[in-house]
Amino acid sequence: TMEDRRGYIWYDGELKPWNEVRVHVLTHTLHYGTGVFEGIRAYEARKGTAVFRLEDHVSRLFRSARILNIPIPCPPAEVTAACLEAVSANQLQTAYIRPMCFLGAEGLGLRTDNLSSHLIVAAWHWDTYLGPKALEQGIRVKTSSFTKLHVNSGMCKAKVNGNYVNSMLALQEARASGCEEALLLDTDGYVAECSGENIFIVRDGRIYTPEATAALEGITRDTVLRIAEDRGLNAREKRITRDEVYGADEVFLTGTAAEVTPVRELDSRQIGTGGRGPITERLQRLYFDHVHGRSEAHGEWLHYLDGARNAQRQPRRHAG
Ligand code: PMP
Repeated sequence: TMEDRRGYIWYDGELKPWNEVRVHVLTHTLHYGTGVFEGIRAYEARKGTAVFRLEDHVSRLFRSARILNIPIPCPPAEVTAACLEAVSANQLQTAYIRPMCFLGAEGLGLRTDNLSSHLIVAAWHWDTYLGPKALEQGIRVKTSSFTKLHVNSGMCKAKVNGNYVNSMLALQEARASGCEEALLLDTDGYVAECSGENIFIVRDGRIYTPEATAALEGITRDTVLRIAEDRGLNAREKRITRDEVYGADEVFLTGTAAEVTPVRELDSRQIGTGGRGPITERLQRLYFDHVHGRSEAHGEWLHYLDGARNAQRQPRRHAG
């Protein structure tokens, strides 16, 4: 289980034994989903273990917190250092890293200004999110009966704990009908994203992804857009309808956990030839080249662990 493991979790400035970290049952975030978090991966790269786009994930964590108007109890440089420490303390060569900022148990009303804020960073080895065959053969996706949160209800640009009830409902429904993922449409009926991934379609050699209006500004999405641009591929944002996805030559999903996963079927309709399309395969290969440091370009995306021990630690600033 996730709670019974050896190792350490970074908790408010200290590495604590994995099995001993606890929160009180009246923790505000447990009741109302009032937290923000990130999902980050570290890969074995050329010069050792490297965290992919760590600073960009930390920036998004802080943006999420600002959107929710909750304070993160330490500065960005300390969160960055904590992520590196969580990986090295658990002696991981590859890792999924989960920082989360949550609110304490000082009060249980809806107000948040009277609460302490806390930060944990856990890291563990996590294989391909959607199963070993998914990356090669693609997955089956179902359009959800649950609509993506309205931009003025959920804060879609923030990775807020509570937003994931919407994702969970969609995924539960998709899995109950034998699919691996759910596609959520926005309140206008246009394609938004999947439960934990952004979506891309390919048509006539051109690559499209929905504007990140009701969808999270995915870092993998940005990576793929930039890699495509580097290679002179035509990739851009546009409004996408459900029938455009049905008729696409290729469809794929992007996410830190799911990486670049082909979609072979949507709502019982085969996409393209029903497997991983050539452009998807190329972008997937390029993505893995970048995360593993096999690409000449974008060395700045890799944050090697080696520096972790020397990272500048700053004193913890208490909230409130
Ligand atoms: N959309 C949602 C709803 C997500 O949870 C995620 C995963 N963070 C993504 C998209 C993909 O974002 P990223 O590429 O930054 O992991």
